[in-house]
Amino acid sequence: MSPGGGAAAPHGSYDVIVVGGGIAGSLVARRLGDLGRRVLVLEAGPAAADPEAGHRAALRTYLTAGAKVPGSPYVPSPEATWPEVTDLTGLPSGGYAAEGHLIQRGPLPYASGYVRVNGGTGNVWTGLTPRMHPEDFRTAEFGYGRSWPIGYDELEPHYRAAEYEIGVAADVDEQREHVGLPFPEEYVFPMRALPASHLDRIVAARLDGRRLADPATGDPVVLRVTGTPHGRNSTPDPLYDGGAGYVPVGAHGRPDPGSRCLGSASCIPLCPSHAKYTPLKTQARWSDTVTLVDRAVVDRVLVDGNGRATGVEYLAWNASGPVTRRTVSADVVVLAAHAVENARLLLLSGLANRSDQVGRNLMDHPVLLTWGLLPEPVGPYRGPGSTSGLEGFRFGPARRARAPFRVEIGNWGWVWAKGPVDGDVAELLRTGGEHGRGLFGEALRTAVRERLGRQFTLQFEMEQEADPANRVTLDPDRRDALGLPRPVVSYDLSPHVKEGMAAARQVSDRIFALLGAEDHTDHPAGPAWPGRFEHRGTTYAYRGAGHAAGTHIMGDDPATSVVDSDQRCWDHPGLYAVGCGSMPSVATSNPTLTMAALALRSAGAIARELTARDRPAVITPGDAP
Ligand SMILES: Cc1cc2nc3c(=O)[nH]c(=O)nc-3n(C[C@H](O)[C@H](O)[C@H](O)COP(=O)(O)OP(=O)(O)OC[C@H]3O[C@@H](n4cnc5c(N)ncnc54)[C@H](O)[C@@H]3O)c2cc1C
Ligand code: SF4
Repeated sequence: MSPGGGAAAPHGSYDVIVVGGGIAGSLVARRLGDLGRRVLVLEAGPAAADPEAGHRAALRTYLTAGAKVPGSPYVPSPEATWPEVTDLTGLPSGGYAAEGHLIQRGPLPYASGYVRVNGGTGNVWTGLTPRMHPEDFRTAEFGYGRSWPIGYDELEPHYRAAEYEIGVAADVDEQREHVGLPFPEEYVFPMRALPASHLDRIVAARLDGRRLADPATGDPVVLRVTGTPHGRNSTPDPLYDGGAGYVPVGAHGRPDPGSRCLGSASCIPLCPSHAKYTPLKTQARWSDTVTLVDRAVVDRVLVDGNGRATGVEYLAWNASGPVTRRTVSADVVVLAAHAVENARLLLLSGLANRSDQVGRNLMDHPVLLTWGLLPEPVGPYRGPGSTSGLEGFRFGPARRARAPFRVEIGNWGWVWAKGPVDGDVAELLRTGGEHGRGLFGEALRTAVRERLGRQFTLQFEMEQEADPANRVTLDPDRRDALGLPRPVVSYDLSPHVKEGMAAARQVSDRIFALLGAEDHTDHPAGPAWPGRFEHRGTTYAYRGAGHAAGTHIMGDDPATSVVDSDQRCWDHPGLYAVGCGSMPSVATSNPTLTMAALALRSAGAIARELTARDRPAVITPGDAP
């Protein structure tokens, strides 16, 4: 690793430049480095020279942070800022105000953030890794959005490769039977499924096998609590890889057969025990042909007269020194800077936009949260944020009429909906004020158990379709600390998504009734709910899932898409844009496993391109003019 600002510049020419050291960039670099390719990774944010010291510093920063939000383990540098969920505030009138890295100009707010430090958003993600459903690749057949130029079958081997790299824990039979995913007959996941939480078991006992009429079509949907695949260490499956087994990766990329998820419930932002996958684990296993330069903000992709990518320009910054502009060249340039920043970089460079689709089609999974109290203690605030879900609303003809959705059963009480539990405890302790109860000792313990021990949340994650009007543009007048135009977002929810929210709310009501739960859901106008809208006379509110997608959309026609099915920019040989930005639909699954599968697939295409370049041209007499 070389520091960017002020230190020696990388020299010579590289086979590949990767812009961004998140999950997508780290996987591409690993695959190409393993093939002996000279890869330079340019990372906008800082990287810790010693990963253990970096991990401890991030934990300390998190513990002392006032607001516990995804980016709170890191202190944003003015040179590489990022949007945080706290940038948005709901107004008493029901509208929203936005400040921070993203300038928001849409009717509704884009309610998600990301992180710009080495490792990117993958440092702080939850780590849920479901696959897309085969139907998710064909949304246009259901009358909305865009279909993919490739299908499930074509991506399937790359899913397996991604599950190996991330180290996924799941039960293949359950995924086959209850989600409807095809797998090769002998396949097992690298690690066994995580155990269901106490809450999952209580919910399963009351819901499994029950039928609900789909609110949109009246068709019956069978409820089945189904384990979610996880990118976190459980018990390795000895049957993996035909009996070869799997060795989990622990702290800083070390093989660690003993490391397990301990259920400490702080997956967002950081797993103290290194059970959760982060790109830093992949980086630790990079070959020595991969070089990371941190504090290097790429602001321009360079092309030659034929439009072929030749390298990049970047701004090397350092907290104590001047910013320096540098140029570096390579045969292939891979943008892996996150869906929003990839679009920003293409727009800054004026490239790849023959289709006028760069920055458009911004998607997320708008999330409806409903929360309540079960009659008995459910043991919340243990384990990953969600260990199981209900998958039956993801597919089928109902998606013609409403957005399909996954339902996550939330293990972390009301924390996503109402904020950390400290507020509740402070209220119970406080002697004064309107709600102060002045409790201590046994009385306090009983009240905490009563107030917190029965909490649960349902998280309904809507598929949002590609809509060219939802977009990222640049504001030339409002610039960041490096003088670069800031990204502007225009965002709204379609009637299809709003119908999905309305259906989800009805499903929630039915589930709460089956569970015998008290419903405490409340989305008042005001600071906590910036994403709020009326639909058919009812008010709904949503949160963002952090699943930005679509901004350099993939397709089979250069006139209507930015990248092809290898994530190669149609307009520029040697230029790839990888990440969720390529996804034509954000689908009904959390997107990162699919993104990782696509990244590994692209690494294969890049390797073939470089091999073709290496091969000397053979000129035979017949070729002579
Ligand atoms: C709170 C949260 C929870 C999530 N949980 C899940 C989940 O459970 N499951 C799931 O599937 N997905 C989840 N996601 C989404 C997931 O984190 C993203 O899909 C994934 O991390 C994107 O990876 P990436 O490599 O494309 O981008 P990033 O991880 O954002 O990495 C991009 C990198 O590029 C760098 N960069 C940016 N601009 C430049 C530039 N100009 N020059 C150089 N470098 C640059 C950044 O610093 C960063 O390191 C979650 C997201 C959030 C916010
Ligand atoms: S529940 Fe705890 S141990 Fe498990 S992945 Fe999350 S933070 Fe790590």
